[in-house]
Amino acid sequence: MLGPGSHTGELRPLTILAEGPFTLGAEGPMTTTLRVPVERIGGGPRSARFDIVVRGPRGKPLELLLGEDVDPWMLMDENPPNDLGELLANRRFLAQHTYAVAASTLAAFESTLGRRMGWARGRRLRIHAYDTVPYADSGYDREDGVVRFGHRRDGRERLSVPLALYRDLVAHEVTHAILAGYRTRWSDQFASLDQFALHEAIADLVAMLSVFSSAERVEQLLDPLGSGATDLTGLDEQILLSGLFSFGDGLFSHGPARQPMRTPVPTGWR
Ligand SMILES: [Zn+2]
Repeated sequence: MLGPGSHTGELRPLTILAEGPFTLGAEGPMTTTLRVPVERIGGGPRSARFDIVVRGPRGKPLELLLGEDVDPWMLMDENPPNDLGELLANRRFLAQHTYAVAASTLAAFESTLGRRMGWARGRRLRIHAYDTVPYADSGYDREDGVVRFGHRRDGRERLSVPLALYRDLVAHEVTHAILAGYRTRWSDQFASLDQFALHEAIADLVAMLSVFSSAERVEQLLDPLGSGATDLTGLDEQILLSGLFSFGDGLFSHGPARQPMRTPVPTGWR
């Protein structure tokens, strides 16, 4: 029988949406797999480093479980429903997706810098994956140490769309939280606009690269008709004509209304 300590350094696979709920693969929403550090996960889900809070229909936080009842170290990976309506309503998958993107973003910084990253003001980070805030108020709040994701109506679906289902948005806001702990003076009350701009630039880059790290999505952008193996002859021209180079244009718009997600700095930033 292995004790909990033997899990140290292990990674476990978790399925997430490769980009968001409206990016489709062959049989439903396009997914990809992240390998996240093994941690003991409590209800919430709550890990050693941060909490995910998902509110139910009456606004009460749900105590969602990602691990097995008998072994909280053992993550249970679930696939999202193929039906869009069911996906938007599925809070268990929303928690899994948000947790995995946040854990993997944090792990990317920690493995690159070779050390643990603390949160701003020494507080635990709380990520509200389905909150009651207006969707335009989604974002990281340094004073409270929380990231909030609202939800919004979208002309494409009857149900409200949780913004946390967009991988880039979760990666972006968690990067703000990591940077706020890493360099507190970049975002305190004396910080200048260029320091906030640096925050935004790094958060945008991490967000964009997080989606590009999905081979499934990049293959689809290179070969939108799904014709099979991309012809390597003349690949340069094909790449330029593919969606790959316009991909960044659509980030952070997320919806037919074409409203930018971001709101002006610096009273807290988005
Ligand atoms: Zn931002």
